[in-house]
Amino acid sequence: MTLPTTAIGGLLQRHRNDPSRLVQILRDVQDANGFISPRDITEIAQGLGVPRARVEGTAGFYSFFATEPRGQYRVLFSDNITDEMLGSHALRDALCRAFDVHPGEVSRDGLVSVGTTSCTGLCDQGPALLVNGRAIGRLDPARIGVIAALIRGKTPLDRWPAELFEVTDMIHRADLLLDSALKPGEAIAAAMEKGPQAVIDEVKKSNLRGRGGAGFSTATKWDACRVAPGPERVVVCNADEGEPGTFKDRVLLRRHAELVVEGMTVCAYAVGAQAGFIYLRGEYLFLRDHLEAVLQARRDARLLGQSIRGQKSFDFDIELHLGAGAYVCGEESALIESLEGKRGIPRNRPPYPVTHGYKQRPTVVNNVETLAAAALIVKHGAGWFTAKGTPTSSGTKIHSVSGDVARPGLYELPWGVTIAELLDLSGAKNTQAVQVGGPSGVCLAGDGFKRKLAFEDVPTAGAFMVFDNSRAMVEVAENFARFFKHESCGFCTPCRVGTALMHRAMERIVHGRGTKRDLKELKYIAQLLKVSSHCGLGHTAGNPVLDTLERFRPSYQRRIRSFDVLPSFDLDEALAPAREVTGRDDPDAHFAEDAP
Ligand code: SF4
Repeated sequence: MTLPTTAIGGLLQRHRNDPSRLVQILRDVQDANGFISPRDITEIAQGLGVPRARVEGTAGFYSFFATEPRGQYRVLFSDNITDEMLGSHALRDALCRAFDVHPGEVSRDGLVSVGTTSCTGLCDQGPALLVNGRAIGRLDPARIGVIAALIRGKTPLDRWPAELFEVTDMIHRADLLLDSALKPGEAIAAAMEKGPQAVIDEVKKSNLRGRGGAGFSTATKWDACRVAPGPERVVVCNADEGEPGTFKDRVLLRRHAELVVEGMTVCAYAVGAQAGFIYLRGEYLFLRDHLEAVLQARRDARLLGQSIRGQKSFDFDIELHLGAGAYVCGEESALIESLEGKRGIPRNRPPYPVTHGYKQRPTVVNNVETLAAAALIVKHGAGWFTAKGTPTSSGTKIHSVSGDVARPGLYELPWGVTIAELLDLSGAKNTQAVQVGGPSGVCLAGDGFKRKLAFEDVPTAGAFMVFDNSRAMVEVAENFARFFKHESCGFCTPCRVGTALMHRAMERIVHGRGTKRDLKELKYIAQLLKVSSHCGLGHTAGNPVLDTLERFRPSYQRRIRSFDVLPSFDLDEALAPAREVTGRDDPDAHFAEDAP
């Protein structure tokens, strides 16, 4: 089915026939049809007045878009390692059996398609899946049975039991941010009293650093945008939290959206911006209505829109933009490309977004947590913030804890706590390893647990995945290699080819078909990715393999063969007929390899 031309026309009008809304337009077409047909692509291109290739390229880039028919119910299981540890593969297979369909396929009657997707941001309540974009967590065989019955009965999604879609905020430790009770407009009022430059000075004094991973000085970013030439400036809230194992922004946006929007408005006041965007990851579709309601309430209260708080020269409004399943869009220049309705390919830098960002305008891109902290700093002062944390890492950090712990969820702690302290708080036992900062971060073994979570020691964007000593770390590394292969945007050869080769070698090793040569090649590819990739995704894609090879080598060695190269045939298998004829099947009748 494709949308009639008139429907496409109406849809484009709702998006002001604006080509920079292309990702949102494609989302709407996909929602209506279940896929984006060649005719839809042609109609959209004609309606927007852009080349067809541009629409086709964008539709083909994002993993949530399909250009061929899929099931009426499109089920995507989270492929995240913590979901895998909780049995997501068995649950996926059970659903596949219920509809006689294989993963990646559409059932014969076209009713359902089952596949996988990267982390859905529900690691504290996994295993999880998306059905037609809507998240369901806490999966177990009973829930899979309910879902199968609803699909079989062709029950419309909005008539599915609401409790299936319930998402819980699991907060175990709250501090400056999660405990805040700032009233709407309080930080804006404080900012207006100070004046734009004094706001930036206050943020500078607080030593606030970006919470998205890079740790860049927030005040330096704001200052650079403020002084950059150009009549219009933009503030972007990066809510595309796609790093597997991270879910803090989900909770911040659900419980403290006012605070985040307040931070964006304070930033707009300081840098002189008129336009703002919240770039929300597509997996958090369930937050859309709540965020739209918060934005509208603030417009009604004159905290957004024209003449904010009665100041004639202060006009600023915010648009919500949903992603469509591309981890690379968490990189700020890729995110801006996506906001402009293009494929999310990271730009060459310099120039940086602070001078040439959204539509080449000076643009600040800040993480959700950074903006929330900025609002509080402007209201309470830099000293209030620096009283917590360390001299280099001021304030608090929200950690998303998942994996082998008794109490998964959020822990907001001052920077500088040790990994051992957080393990203890979350009830971890027999911990073998912790992956700090997600797959692109660092994997630490026991001798690293005394290290501090801080920019000066172990920096982190917030993911804290715990693996006890029952886990095979080589399997963890294989999962992360699969993630990077899936998420490579394909723009540059080292990353496109390197992540695929790396995952192929990891698969061989995990399935007992790897060789010593694979280990050497893995190291070589990981180094190559680091030095020759175009963006951070490629630079860090080899980290999990390098870290686990260094710290958990026996986990690899138990699986690999002793050969330098893999024989082109399996000698032991070839001897099977001879064993059958001779009636011998004792160990001496098998081809044995030396232990590696
Ligand atoms: Fe794309 Fe990977 Fe190259 Fe980054 S490093 S631009 S993600 S292919």
